[in-house]
Amino acid sequence: MPATIIDGRQIAEKLRADIARDAAEFHAAAGIAPHLAAVLLGDDPASAVYVKNKRLACEKAGLKSTLIQLPAATTQGELLAVVERLNADVSVHGILVQLPLPKQIHPQPILDAVAPLKDVDCFHPENVGLLSQGRPRFLPCTPSGVQQILIHAGVKVPGSHVAIVGRSDLVGRPLALMLMQKGPAADATVTVCHSRTRDLAQITRTADILVAAMGQPEFIKAEMVKPGAVVIDVGTTRVGERIVGDVDFARVSEVAAAITPVPRGVGPMTITMLLANTVAAARLHGASQ
Ligand code: NAP
Repeated sequence: MPATIIDGRQIAEKLRADIARDAAEFHAAAGIAPHLAAVLLGDDPASAVYVKNKRLACEKAGLKSTLIQLPAATTQGELLAVVERLNADVSVHGILVQLPLPKQIHPQPILDAVAPLKDVDCFHPENVGLLSQGRPRFLPCTPSGVQQILIHAGVKVPGSHVAIVGRSDLVGRPLALMLMQKGPAADATVTVCHSRTRDLAQITRTADILVAAMGQPEFIKAEMVKPGAVVIDVGTTRVGERIVGDVDFARVSEVAAAITPVPRGVGPMTITMLLANTVAAARLHGASQ
Protein backbone atom coordinates (compact mmCIF):
# COMPACT_ATOMS: atom_id res chain seq x y z
CA MET A 1 0.00 0.00 0.00
CA PRO A 2 1.45 3.44 -0.86
CA ALA A 3 2.50 5.63 2.06
CA THR A 4 0.27 8.24 3.64
CA ILE A 5 1.55 11.63 2.58
CA ILE A 6 1.91 13.90 5.59
CA ASP A 7 0.82 17.41 4.62
CA GLY A 8 3.10 19.79 6.54
CA ARG A 9 1.25 22.80 5.20
CA GLN A 10 -2.03 21.62 6.70
CA ILE A 11 -0.43 21.00 10.10
CA ALA A 12 1.30 24.38 9.90
CA GLU A 13 -2.00 26.14 9.17
CA LYS A 14 -3.64 24.57 12.19
CA LEU A 15 -0.74 25.55 14.45
CA ARG A 16 -0.61 29.07 13.02
CA ALA A 17 -4.26 29.60 13.96
CA ASP A 18 -3.36 28.72 17.58
CA ILE A 19 -0.30 31.00 17.44
CA ALA A 20 -2.43 33.86 16.08
CA ARG A 21 -4.79 33.42 19.04
CA ASP A 22 -1.86 33.49 21.48
CA ALA A 23 -0.41 36.56 19.76
CA ALA A 24 -3.75 38.39 19.97
CA GLU A 25 -4.03 37.50 23.65
CA PHE A 26 -0.53 38.87 24.32
CA HIS A 27 -1.28 42.01 22.29
CA ALA A 28 -4.49 42.66 24.23
CA ALA A 29 -2.74 42.24 27.59
CA ALA A 30 0.56 44.01 26.82
CA GLY A 31 -0.61 46.68 24.40
CA ILE A 32 1.98 45.63 21.79
CA ALA A 33 2.18 42.73 19.38
CA PRO A 34 4.94 40.11 19.67
CA HIS A 35 7.75 41.59 17.57
CA LEU A 36 10.37 39.78 15.48
CA ALA A 37 13.34 41.71 14.11
CA ALA A 38 15.08 40.08 11.14
CA VAL A 39 18.58 41.10 10.10
CA LEU A 40 19.50 40.45 6.49
CA LEU A 41 22.93 41.16 5.00
CA GLY A 42 23.52 41.52 1.29
CA ASP A 43 21.27 40.56 -1.59
CA ASP A 44 21.36 36.75 -1.74
CA PRO A 45 18.02 35.99 -3.46
CA ALA A 46 17.32 32.78 -1.48
CA SER A 47 17.90 34.55 1.86
CA ALA A 48 15.70 37.44 0.73
CA VAL A 49 12.87 34.99 -0.06
CA TYR A 50 13.25 33.19 3.30
CA VAL A 51 13.10 36.50 5.18
CA LYS A 52 10.14 37.72 3.11
CA ASN A 53 8.22 34.50 3.86
CA LYS A 54 8.98 34.77 7.56
CA ARG A 55 7.76 38.38 7.63
CA LEU A 56 4.58 37.53 5.69
CA ALA A 57 3.86 34.69 8.11
CA CYS A 58 4.36 37.11 11.03
CA GLU A 59 1.89 39.58 9.58
CA LYS A 60 -0.72 36.91 8.91
CA ALA A 61 -0.50 35.69 12.51
CA GLY A 62 -0.73 39.19 13.99
CA LEU A 63 2.94 39.52 14.92
CA LYS A 64 4.95 42.62 14.16
CA SER A 65 8.06 42.16 12.06
CA THR A 66 10.88 44.56 11.27
CA LEU A 67 13.52 44.02 8.63
CA ILE A 68 16.98 45.48 9.13
CA GLN A 69 18.62 45.25 5.73
CA LEU A 70 22.36 45.85 5.68
CA PRO A 71 24.86 45.99 2.82
CA ALA A 72 26.86 42.86 1.93
CA ALA A 73 30.06 44.71 2.95
CA THR A 74 28.88 45.24 6.56
CA THR A 75 31.71 44.58 9.00
CA GLN A 76 31.69 42.26 12.01
CA GLY A 77 31.70 45.31 14.32
CA GLU A 78 28.81 46.99 12.50
CA LEU A 79 26.70 43.84 12.63
CA LEU A 80 27.51 43.32 16.32
CA ALA A 81 26.40 46.90 17.00
CA VAL A 82 23.06 46.23 15.26
CA VAL A 83 22.52 43.08 17.34
CA GLU A 84 23.37 45.00 20.53
CA ARG A 85 20.90 47.74 19.60
CA LEU A 86 18.15 45.14 19.06
CA ASN A 87 19.06 43.44 22.34
CA ALA A 88 18.54 46.75 24.15
CA ASP A 89 15.30 47.64 22.32
CA VAL A 90 12.47 46.66 24.69
CA SER A 91 9.95 46.70 21.83
CA VAL A 92 11.78 43.81 20.10
CA HIS A 93 11.02 40.33 21.47
CA GLY A 94 12.77 38.04 18.97
CA ILE A 95 15.93 38.53 16.89
CA LEU A 96 16.73 36.53 13.79
CA VAL A 97 20.04 36.91 11.93
CA GLN A 98 19.50 35.32 8.53
CA LEU A 99 22.19 32.79 7.57
CA PRO A 100 24.43 32.36 5.69
CA LEU A 101 26.38 35.52 6.42
CA PRO A 102 28.89 37.04 3.98
CA LYS A 103 32.46 35.69 4.08
CA GLN A 104 33.96 38.54 6.14
CA ILE A 105 31.61 37.81 9.06
CA HIS A 106 32.35 35.11 11.65
CA PRO A 107 28.86 33.82 12.44
CA GLN A 108 29.50 32.34 15.90
CA PRO A 109 30.30 35.61 17.75
CA ILE A 110 27.24 37.20 16.11
CA LEU A 111 24.89 34.38 17.12
CA ASP A 112 26.46 34.34 20.61
CA ALA A 113 25.75 38.07 20.91
CA VAL A 114 21.97 37.72 20.52
CA ALA A 115 20.34 38.11 23.95
CA PRO A 116 19.38 34.58 25.09
CA LEU A 117 15.80 35.67 25.88
CA LYS A 118 15.42 36.96 22.29
CA ASP A 119 17.17 33.99 20.64
CA VAL A 120 14.15 32.62 18.76
CA ASP A 121 16.33 30.42 16.53
CA CYS A 122 17.73 28.71 19.65
CA PHE A 123 21.35 29.07 18.55
CA HIS A 124 22.77 30.72 21.70
CA PRO A 125 24.96 28.36 23.81
CA GLU A 126 22.80 29.08 26.87
CA ASN A 127 19.67 27.93 25.03
CA VAL A 128 21.43 24.93 23.45
CA GLY A 129 22.67 24.01 26.96
CA LEU A 130 19.16 24.24 28.41
CA LEU A 131 17.86 22.12 25.53
CA SER A 132 20.50 19.47 26.12
CA GLN A 133 19.60 19.37 29.82
CA GLY A 134 15.98 18.70 28.94
CA ARG A 135 14.65 22.06 30.17
CA PRO A 136 14.41 24.05 26.94
CA ARG A 137 13.65 27.76 26.89
CA PHE A 138 13.07 27.70 23.11
CA LEU A 139 12.87 24.70 20.80
CA PRO A 140 14.96 25.04 17.63
CA CYS A 141 12.61 25.72 14.73
CA THR A 142 13.24 22.91 12.22
CA PRO A 143 13.66 20.10 14.80
CA SER A 144 10.58 21.36 16.60
CA GLY A 145 8.72 21.37 13.28
CA VAL A 146 9.71 17.73 12.76
CA GLN A 147 8.51 16.81 16.25
CA GLN A 148 5.18 18.58 15.67
CA ILE A 149 4.74 16.68 12.41
CA LEU A 150 5.23 13.40 14.28
CA ILE A 151 2.70 14.46 16.92
CA HIS A 152 0.07 15.65 14.45
CA ALA A 153 0.50 12.63 12.18
CA GLY A 154 -0.16 10.41 15.20
CA VAL A 155 3.25 8.72 15.04
CA LYS A 156 4.18 6.84 18.19
CA VAL A 157 7.66 8.08 19.07
CA PRO A 158 8.33 6.61 22.55
CA GLY A 159 10.30 3.39 22.35
CA SER A 160 10.84 3.66 18.62
CA HIS A 161 14.19 3.67 16.86
CA VAL A 162 14.78 7.00 15.13
CA ALA A 163 17.65 7.27 12.66
CA ILE A 164 18.65 10.82 11.79
CA VAL A 165 20.95 11.24 8.81
CA GLY A 166 22.77 14.53 9.39
CA ARG A 167 24.41 15.97 12.54
CA SER A 168 24.31 19.71 11.90
CA ASP A 169 23.83 22.26 14.69
CA LEU A 170 20.74 23.43 12.81
CA VAL A 171 18.85 20.15 12.39
CA GLY A 172 20.32 16.73 13.17
CA ARG A 173 22.03 17.33 16.49
CA PRO A 174 19.24 19.33 18.24
CA LEU A 175 16.59 16.96 16.86
CA ALA A 176 18.47 14.03 18.39
CA LEU A 177 18.57 15.87 21.74
CA MET A 178 14.83 16.48 21.59
CA LEU A 179 13.75 12.98 20.60
CA MET A 180 15.96 11.19 23.12
CA GLN A 181 14.58 13.18 26.05
CA LYS A 182 11.89 11.90 28.35
CA GLY A 183 8.44 12.93 27.21
CA PRO A 184 5.36 12.04 25.21
CA ALA A 185 6.67 12.86 21.72
CA ALA A 186 10.18 11.73 22.60
CA ASP A 187 11.64 8.81 24.59
CA ALA A 188 13.06 7.42 21.35
CA THR A 189 16.24 5.46 20.82
CA VAL A 190 18.14 7.74 18.47
CA THR A 191 20.96 6.95 16.08
CA VAL A 192 22.66 9.95 14.48
CA CYS A 193 24.41 9.24 11.16
CA HIS A 194 26.76 11.42 9.13
CA SER A 195 29.14 11.31 6.20
CA ARG A 196 31.61 9.05 8.09
CA THR A 197 28.98 6.53 9.19
CA ARG A 198 29.80 2.99 8.11
CA ASP A 199 27.03 0.84 6.60
CA LEU A 200 24.50 3.68 6.59
CA ALA A 201 21.80 1.62 4.86
CA GLN A 202 22.09 -1.11 7.48
CA ILE A 203 21.27 1.46 10.16
CA THR A 204 18.51 3.29 8.30
CA ARG A 205 16.83 -0.05 7.50
CA THR A 206 16.33 -0.66 11.23
CA ALA A 207 14.67 2.72 11.85
CA ASP A 208 10.97 2.98 12.69
CA ILE A 209 11.30 6.70 11.98
CA LEU A 210 13.89 7.90 9.47
CA VAL A 211 14.77 11.59 9.27
CA ALA A 212 16.90 12.74 6.34
CA ALA A 213 18.66 16.08 6.88
CA MET A 214 21.66 15.89 4.59
CA GLY A 215 21.23 18.24 1.67
CA GLN A 216 21.86 15.38 -0.81
CA PRO A 217 19.02 15.22 -3.35
CA GLU A 218 17.16 11.87 -3.41
CA PHE A 219 19.97 10.10 -1.55
CA ILE A 220 17.66 7.89 0.54
CA LYS A 221 16.49 5.04 -1.67
CA ALA A 222 13.70 2.52 -1.08
CA GLU A 223 16.13 -0.25 -0.11
CA MET A 224 17.46 1.95 2.72
CA VAL A 225 14.01 2.13 4.35
CA LYS A 226 12.33 -0.42 6.61
CA PRO A 227 8.90 -1.41 5.26
CA GLY A 228 6.26 0.46 7.27
CA ALA A 229 8.64 3.16 8.52
CA VAL A 230 7.76 6.85 8.84
CA VAL A 231 10.07 8.98 6.68
CA ILE A 232 10.61 12.69 7.34
CA ASP A 233 12.49 14.54 4.61
CA VAL A 234 14.10 17.76 5.83
CA GLY A 235 16.33 18.22 2.78
CA THR A 236 15.77 21.07 0.37
CA THR A 237 18.18 21.44 -2.52
CA ARG A 238 17.50 23.55 -5.58
CA VAL A 239 17.97 21.42 -8.70
CA GLY A 240 17.23 23.57 -11.73
CA GLU A 241 13.78 25.00 -11.13
CA ARG A 242 12.79 22.34 -8.59
CA ILE A 243 13.30 22.06 -4.84
CA VAL A 244 14.32 18.47 -4.18
CA GLY A 245 14.39 16.58 -0.88
CA ASP A 246 16.91 14.05 0.40
CA VAL A 247 14.52 11.14 -0.20
CA ASP A 248 13.64 9.40 -3.45
CA PHE A 249 9.99 10.21 -2.81
CA ALA A 250 8.40 8.12 -5.60
CA ARG A 251 10.12 4.84 -4.67
CA VAL A 252 10.27 5.31 -0.91
CA SER A 253 6.50 6.01 -0.89
CA GLU A 254 6.01 2.41 -2.03
CA VAL A 255 7.78 1.09 1.09
CA ALA A 256 7.11 3.58 3.91
CA ALA A 257 3.89 3.81 5.94
CA ALA A 258 4.01 7.63 5.93
CA ILE A 259 6.24 10.23 4.33
CA THR A 260 6.61 14.01 4.15
CA PRO A 261 6.85 15.54 0.68
CA VAL A 262 9.22 18.31 -0.45
CA PRO A 263 7.95 20.98 -0.73
CA ARG A 264 4.97 21.17 1.68
CA GLY A 265 6.49 18.94 4.31
CA VAL A 266 8.91 20.24 6.91
CA GLY A 267 9.44 23.67 5.29
CA PRO A 268 6.16 25.33 6.39
CA MET A 269 6.66 23.94 9.90
CA THR A 270 10.03 25.68 10.36
CA ILE A 271 8.50 29.14 9.91
CA THR A 272 5.56 28.15 12.11
CA MET A 273 7.84 27.26 15.00
CA LEU A 274 9.69 30.57 14.56
CA LEU A 275 6.35 32.34 15.08
CA ALA A 276 5.66 30.19 18.14
CA ASN A 277 9.08 31.08 19.56
CA THR A 278 8.51 34.79 18.97
CA VAL A 279 5.26 34.67 20.94
CA ALA A 280 7.05 32.68 23.66
CA ALA A 281 9.84 35.30 23.71
CA ALA A 282 7.27 38.09 24.06
CA ARG A 283 5.75 36.29 27.04
CA LEU A 284 9.18 35.77 28.60
CA HIS A 285 9.88 39.46 28.12
CA GLY A 286 6.55 40.33 29.76
CA ALA A 287 7.34 38.01 32.68
CA SER A 288 10.81 39.55 33.17
CA GLN A 289 9.46 43.14 33.43
P1 NAP B 1 24.58 20.67 6.74
O1 NAP B 1 25.00 21.59 7.82
O2 NAP B 1 25.29 20.70 5.43
O3 NAP B 1 24.67 19.17 7.32
C1 NAP B 1 24.45 18.07 6.50
C2 NAP B 1 24.67 16.81 7.31
O4 NAP B 1 24.44 15.69 6.46
C3 NAP B 1 26.09 16.68 7.87
O5 NAP B 1 26.05 16.18 9.18
C4 NAP B 1 26.74 15.67 6.92
O6 NAP B 1 27.71 14.86 7.53
C5 NAP B 1 25.54 14.80 6.55
N1 NAP B 1 25.76 14.17 5.26
C6 NAP B 1 26.00 14.78 4.06
N2 NAP B 1 26.18 13.85 3.10
C7 NAP B 1 26.04 12.64 3.69
C8 NAP B 1 26.11 11.31 3.24
N3 NAP B 1 26.37 11.01 1.95
N4 NAP B 1 25.88 10.31 4.11
C9 NAP B 1 25.62 10.57 5.42
N5 NAP B 1 25.54 11.84 5.91
C10 NAP B 1 25.76 12.85 5.07
O7 NAP B 1 23.04 20.84 6.40
P2 NAP B 1 21.79 21.28 7.33
O8 NAP B 1 21.86 22.72 7.59
O9 NAP B 1 21.61 20.33 8.46
O10 NAP B 1 20.61 21.03 6.27
C11 NAP B 1 20.36 19.76 5.73
C12 NAP B 1 19.31 19.87 4.65
O11 NAP B 1 18.10 20.33 5.25
C13 NAP B 1 19.63 20.91 3.57
O12 NAP B 1 19.10 20.45 2.35
C14 NAP B 1 18.89 22.15 4.02
O13 NAP B 1 18.56 23.00 2.95
C15 NAP B 1 17.66 21.52 4.62
N6 NAP B 1 16.98 22.34 5.62
C16 NAP B 1 15.65 22.49 5.45
C17 NAP B 1 14.93 23.21 6.37
C18 NAP B 1 13.47 23.32 6.20
O14 NAP B 1 12.86 24.17 6.83
N7 NAP B 1 12.86 22.50 5.38
C19 NAP B 1 15.58 23.82 7.46
C20 NAP B 1 16.95 23.62 7.61
C21 NAP B 1 17.65 22.87 6.69
P3 NAP B 1 29.11 15.49 8.13
O15 NAP B 1 28.72 16.15 9.40
O16 NAP B 1 29.96 14.31 8.33
O17 NAP B 1 29.61 16.45 7.09
